[in-house]
Amino acid sequence: MTEDQIKSAVEHYETLLRKQLARVDEMERGASPVDLANKEKLVIGVIGGDGIGPIIVEQAKRVLDILLKDEIASGRVEIRQIEGLTIENRLSLGQSVPADTLAEIKKCDVLLKGPTTTPKGGTMESANVTLRRENTEGEYVLGSSGIEIPGKLAMDFKVTTDLGTRRIARAAFEFARREGKDNVAIVTKANIMKKTDGNFSRICREVAADYPEIEVEDWYIDIMAANLVNESIRSKFKVFVLPNLYGDIITDEAAQIQGGVGTAGSANMGDRYSMFEAIHGSAPRMIEEGIGDYANPSSIFKAAEMMLSHCGLSAQAKRLSDALTVCNETEKRVVVTGDRNGATCREFADYVIEKL
Ligand code: NAD
Repeated sequence: MTEDQIKSAVEHYETLLRKQLARVDEMERGASPVDLANKEKLVIGVIGGDGIGPIIVEQAKRVLDILLKDEIASGRVEIRQIEGLTIENRLSLGQSVPADTLAEIKKCDVLLKGPTTTPKGGTMESANVTLRRENTEGEYVLGSSGIEIPGKLAMDFKVTTDLGTRRIARAAFEFARREGKDNVAIVTKANIMKKTDGNFSRICREVAADYPEIEVEDWYIDIMAANLVNESIRSKFKVFVLPNLYGDIITDEAAQIQGGVGTAGSANMGDRYSMFEAIHGSAPRMIEEGIGDYANPSSIFKAAEMMLSHCGLSAQAKRLSDALTVCNETEKRVVVTGDRNGATCREFADYVIEKL
């Protein structure tokens, strides 16, 4: 290894550090929250994405059109299809989110987004990481900015900001209080990642002091992953707050327990913009095998429900939530299995629409 390689790695590190500190400064200046419930006009952006994305999002749009029929007719709500966030377009432009697509996204208040494919290796940033930038922490924020000394070693970076941690902790405890949940588990690997996860755990504990009615526990991610497999143990947990990577893993595990990754939605909430998605990816293998039409849309429907609720459209959110409960839990007349043995995405959407 030459001195030049060390010098350029140190310079790279200094640039990253300065950029991250600038990001923290920007977060501290902060945007003031927008009151979506009372906004005169609400613009909902809809993005198909890659793989099974356009298939499931098309059905979510059908559901939204029905639920928001009156609001769309009166002009209070507009549902706007946004093009260009496809892997082909992103690769040809060399942009994780093409500039004109991003400009269109920024004209919307909230976004319902289908999964997008991220190429393995290389330097192309994930579209999700770019779009979630304001809220991205941990291993994800600098995932494409690691250092490599070829043939010797590679280093990635993990970032935990005080403000980002305080914000997610506040969101977790507010959620617990609002939903009447009496337990929040802080999940880290603070015994190993002493600075980043150590701070995460400490700051969550500080925030917890404002919620004395809620029991708080610290857990390590490895044993928590094991706990979730055991029904008698997992049922005691109510809310988790955890850094980005562990959250990414545990949400898939939790979704699998409740019926598969096709059943869970996710939310990314900022003060000004929010984005709602299925938790799963673009399922390229389903497309290769010609069974994309058999994808489960429950995940994106769940995301749509969360989006409606976030926008203050709680009656419409409840209609969707109740219909999904009937279709997926109580009646289960039409079942999606993700292959030709089950119903298609459209058939399941018809079933949900019938129950709205
Ligand atoms: P994946 O979630 O796409 O697929 C995992 C498994 O779940 C596969 O067997 C797939 O067939 C199945 N599956 C996923 N969604 C389903 C649905 N709605 N109905 C039925 N079965 C479903 O995970 P992956 O294969 O690891 O990732 C594929 C691509 O998606 C990658 O490029 C990855 O980066 C990307 N991805 C995107 C997002 C996002 O946009 N939010 C999230 C995760 C992964």
